[in-house]
Amino acid sequence: MASDNYNNALNELKSMLKLVNQEAKIFKCKDKVIKDFKNDFSHSNVKSLKEERLKCFLHMRNNHHWTGLDRQTKNLLQNFDNLKDALYYATDEAINIEQRIDYAINKVNGLKLGILTPILMITNEDKYGVVNSKVEAFFKDYGLMPIKNKKSNEKYKHINNGIGYEQINSILHKFAEDLSICLWKLDALFFYYSCINHTNNEIRDEIKSRIGTFDKLNKDENNFVGIAEIKKTKLKPSQGGITVKKLKCINEPVILSIYNIEGNFYEYTGNYLECSYPNTGFQAKADDIFFGMTSVMKYKIPIFVLLEDKSCNSKIKIQIGLIEDYDSNRHKFLIHLLDNFPSFDETRDKNEKFNDDEFEPFDYNDDVKKALVKIRGNQEKFRFDILKIYGNSCCVCGFNKEKAIEAAHIIPKSEKGTDDPRNGLPMCANHHRLFDAYYFAFDKDTNVIIKKGENLNSLNITKENLKHLKNLPNEKALLEREKIFNKYKLTE
Ligand SMILES: [Zn+2]
Repeated sequence: MASDNYNNALNELKSMLKLVNQEAKIFKCKDKVIKDFKNDFSHSNVKSLKEERLKCFLHMRNNHHWTGLDRQTKNLLQNFDNLKDALYYATDEAINIEQRIDYAINKVNGLKLGILTPILMITNEDKYGVVNSKVEAFFKDYGLMPIKNKKSNEKYKHINNGIGYEQINSILHKFAEDLSICLWKLDALFFYYSCINHTNNEIRDEIKSRIGTFDKLNKDENNFVGIAEIKKTKLKPSQGGITVKKLKCINEPVILSIYNIEGNFYEYTGNYLECSYPNTGFQAKADDIFFGMTSVMKYKIPIFVLLEDKSCNSKIKIQIGLIEDYDSNRHKFLIHLLDNFPSFDETRDKNEKFNDDEFEPFDYNDDVKKALVKIRGNQEKFRFDILKIYGNSCCVCGFNKEKAIEAAHIIPKSEKGTDDPRNGLPMCANHHRLFDAYYFAFDKDTNVIIKKGENLNSLNITKENLKHLKNLPNEKALLEREKIFNKYKLTE
């Protein structure tokens, strides 16, 4: 290991450690998380591990530390006995760690180091450091990835075996020792590093300062990592609901926080929030806010969203949010509310996939997702996408009062239809009800087909097909819907 690289990396970690409030939730929740899950994963108990407990652990809201583990839920549960065998072996301290890791990750599809090593850490917190994509990214940035092949001096690109893990783990131990912190805390530093790892230094500093500010606010033990609270009385109405600041280098305003810009506090409900182009009498200020919002969207700078919790009138919840999208037609922004600061690998660009051929009409993961997350819908996002893509008037009658326009699923949610916007259409509330009651459907050429005994007039349908829309939904979805429509006709 080149000692210069090591020292540079150590200095970066030192600066991260200074940045993060020592009382930060991500540090403090260690004892609780270990207490919660140590029994489940211990060698003597893991053979009787319950599926529910594993699902629970994989979710950030319960492990308070690792995001995205739940993406592997389906794979891990495919053969649960096999997984339990693998974990039983992996936690057997009588066998050397190299061998244990190789055995476990080869035995179970989806059991990557990013999941296995947090489990090992839970069972033996002083011995096993975590290796995941965030840790690897840091090691790569500082030239610390271990050498894979001594002859060619080739380094690992990705650690996926026991030997590689052992080498990284020994460096993790050295970091922890030099920083006088535990492996858990060290792991949190890699998380923060992933959040600020932006190529523009000014943006990097801005995100750093937001993390620092937020950590000071986040004091309540019972809140999630990315949610803080303040007293309502602390808000100054003169702030106008939005804080804008200017960054010198990118020469653009960026917003820090938003609340109340439509005259009411946003309610604390879903995972997404729609927010209007600011409507203020001062055009210059409105422009500033608008550019402030588009630039935080462009640079993926997290913002603070102030939300009202109806169950507690004196307090306001502050949640981390990312502005994900803007609909220039409706002048609306879509804000994704998060449980923690996003890391840059999670804020990766979502390419416009609307016309992409790969369309999966069904979402079989939905049951798993529902079991994991208390149901906080993504309906806001689905509606936002639908209105942006197809326009904001009813697709069969043209009614265009936006308040009454809803997003209808073509393949219904009850049939596991996906939230992909290609499986949806904008409809007024009336036509949405009629569509859901199978009064009408569409054939694959988007022509309206109608239930026996009704006609276009009786249903107030003024469009015979969907060709007037600026985009068309997916053909497969329309076909599936037609099948359901026909089946319904027969059973009625
Ligand atoms: Zn309508």
